[in-house]
Amino acid sequence: MSAVVLVVEDELKLRDLLRSYLEREGHQVLTTASGAEAIGMARSAAPDLVVLDLRLPDVPGEEVAREVRAFSDVPILMLTAKTAEEDRIRGLEAGADDYLTKPFSPRELVLRVQAVLRRGRAAAAVQAPSSFGGGELVIDEDRRQVTVRGQGVELTPTEWGLLTALARSPGRVYSRYELVNRVRGYEFEGYERTVDSHVKNLRRKIEADTRHPRIVVTVLGGGYRLGLARDG
Ligand code: CA
Repeated sequence: MSAVVLVVEDELKLRDLLRSYLEREGHQVLTTASGAEAIGMARSAAPDLVVLDLRLPDVPGEEVAREVRAFSDVPILMLTAKTAEEDRIRGLEAGADDYLTKPFSPRELVLRVQAVLRRGRAAAAVQAPSSFGGGELVIDEDRRQVTVRGQGVELTPTEWGLLTALARSPGRVYSRYELVNRVRGYEFEGYERTVDSHVKNLRRKIEADTRHPRIVVTVLGGGYRLGLARDG
């Protein structure tokens, strides 16, 4: 599974290390130390994945993520310091899909990159579009399209994973643990808040009123469920 990966990292040593790990896996690697340049490259080179350091000298990583999200749903894997949980949450809220904590091993990096790329490409088997709530929500797994109240919605790979996981069995309560496992294939420290951050972003895109969500419903002490019934 070879991909074009854009690496945004201002530490030269780490940047070179990332390049060599990723190239060894057969990926084509573009690099920059600048957040401003990264936004331009994400647009012009249309990479399959962006590896983004959150602490950059010019534009902060979370701002880069937000700007890239405005025109692209490319998966973003961010790099953060171990102690910086707040950074991580802000990065996820800005639209990053996953994170890797510094320092990391080559194996960790490669596994995480593969997981993110796989999620991005998980187009699922050919299926008819599924409709929920009298057509309020339509999920076309084959085309990887979501329509809400007649409007197409752009979801990140993680948001897509969450929504389709919930839609497998409308009404059933999925715990955060179960959701993170279905979407990511592994659990990690702080995953509850991560799931909540992604749900928050997802709701902003699909709910008519985010204060009273009807599609992705919170179940106190339980997790989340799809609030709409499957049609037909
Ligand atoms: Ca840095």
